[in-house]
Amino acid sequence: ALPNFRWRRVLLKVSGEALAGDGSSNIDPKVTMSIAREVAAITRLGVEVAIVVGGGNFFRGASWVGASGLDRASADHIGMMATVMNAIFLQASMESIGVPTRVMTAFRMAEVAEPYIRRRAVRHLEKGRVVIFGAGTGNPFFTTDTAAALRATEINAEVVLKATNVDGVYDKDPRKNPDATLLEHVSYREVAIQGLSVMDITAITLCQENCIPVVVFNLNEGGNITKALSGERIGTLIDS
Ligand code: UDP
Repeated sequence: ALPNFRWRRVLLKVSGEALAGDGSSNIDPKVTMSIAREVAAITRLGVEVAIVVGGGNFFRGASWVGASGLDRASADHIGMMATVMNAIFLQASMESIGVPTRVMTAFRMAEVAEPYIRRRAVRHLEKGRVVIFGAGTGNPFFTTDTAAALRATEINAEVVLKATNVDGVYDKDPRKNPDATLLEHVSYREVAIQGLSVMDITAITLCQENCIPVVVFNLNEGGNITKALSGERIGTLIDS
């Protein structure tokens, strides 16, 4: 491990919703630039950072099924392409401040980004490049949370850092229960059994099976990405 850092290689999951910020457009450049700056600083200190981006700010497959005859698989293909738009935007933000960044897609869009090749992804990370994984897992019926768990496992990341719009995992839904309390720690099992809606069960199970802890934290507070990336206690830790 690097001095002062808890993780050597991390997988940061950024949802599409988070990228939208509170602006009226699908993407808020203020958000992508703040992610870029915080990731850049940590990368320069030697932590290897891979990012999985969501696409919900543009398109969420499930909510469009039925519209004009759209079946789930086709809807999900559109959703996965939405994640590529976010990936390229985030790459541009990273590179505008001098961070070498590669986008790798789960299905081929070779004129736009590299196809995902595991060994190549690892090589990029070793060279200090930030790798952004687009197109989720490449399969319909999955989510980008599952893509995060899968890629983290494949590249031997030590943790999945899930950046969200909430402070972490609560004992009950904080929007409906004003007395809900933030949990500092929760087990994979509890997340699955209580259906705490932080990550879908497929993603949680994959992390559990591969002993990859998950940290759920709020992206909207400045400095939080830095804290999460450098391994400071923040949000909720999910592990065994
Ligand atoms: N998607 C998919 N397979 C994947 C990942 C994503 O089909 O492996 C599609 C799915 O339609 C999903 C959309 O892409 O609704 C956007 O991803 P997600 O909802 O996970 O994004 P987020 O909620 O993180 O913004």
